[in-house]
Amino acid sequence: MSTLIGVDLGGTNIRAAVATGTYTHAAPTHSATPGQDGPAAVVEAIARCVAEAAGGRQVDGLAIGIPGPLDPRRGIVYAAPQLRGWDNFEAASALRSRIGCEVVIHNDANLAGYAEWVAGAGRGTTDFIFITASTGVGGALIISGDLYAGKSGTAGEIGHMPLSPDQPPCGEGHPGCLEGTASGTAIARSARRAVEAGEFTSLSELAPDAIDGRAVQDAAHAGDEVALRIFTTAARSLGRAVGGLINLFSPEAIAIGGGLINAGELLFGPLRAAVGEMAFAVPAEQCRIVEAELGTDAGLVGAVAWAVKSFGQSSPAGNG
Ligand SMILES: [Zn+2]
Repeated sequence: MSTLIGVDLGGTNIRAAVATGTYTHAAPTHSATPGQDGPAAVVEAIARCVAEAAGGRQVDGLAIGIPGPLDPRRGIVYAAPQLRGWDNFEAASALRSRIGCEVVIHNDANLAGYAEWVAGAGRGTTDFIFITASTGVGGALIISGDLYAGKSGTAGEIGHMPLSPDQPPCGEGHPGCLEGTASGTAIARSARRAVEAGEFTSLSELAPDAIDGRAVQDAAHAGDEVALRIFTTAARSLGRAVGGLINLFSPEAIAIGGGLINAGELLFGPLRAAVGEMAFAVPAEQCRIVEAELGTDAGLVGAVAWAVKSFGQSSPAGNG
């Protein structure tokens, strides 16, 4: 009877849970991420969170989702913007040494997409794409029944596809990439600019740092025309990207997750319309565009499922 653990490492929190099936898990343990204290402190915090989740049992295998580009085969994180000192950090071997079990690492959005594929909106498909749109825009590609990582291990960075060079840059400085227009960060920035320019909007009643993606979403729902325009622009960009992905991959389904999907039809209406601007009719007709199903649990579910895939079926199983 083996004890397999999934860990979701975020910029602010660590969550760990024991696998109870192929993608189900026991109640998770939580800990704050000491992201500014260097890799050793974060590894220590992860180890304590894992030990608590394991409840005294020997851990046989661990999979962890990490917020940054990385190489899952070599176990090396190239960079993690929210974690100081993680450039070219050999995360898998550091965790293996500290915890004393086999460790696999993967990008957090890739594992969230893997979770949606095995347990959420992509169940039963062979070719599936996941896009998460919240503070940033990330994603995952399931191609021919496998999570695709590419040569470097970093594939699936859907947020940084080029859309239009005259659009604003993302935080990485790419002119006109998807994240520069369709992330919560980009939506908030557009709204602050509109307020600064003196446009007539209810958002001008808020302090500038209170204008975030959620506030723009709320204002759009209340019928604020400036907020609606900004949100529709973001949704249209996402839809154009979805259309391009359909042309490239012809997947059976594309699931959209992340905080932006709380906008419902405000997002999906213009998004679906924009897919039609870009996608060829035949692959578009055969691709479902759906909401992701697992919400904020996707990262942990994906890590658990990746641990089970990597280290064998956990037991006692049966409910996965
Ligand atoms: Zn970018």
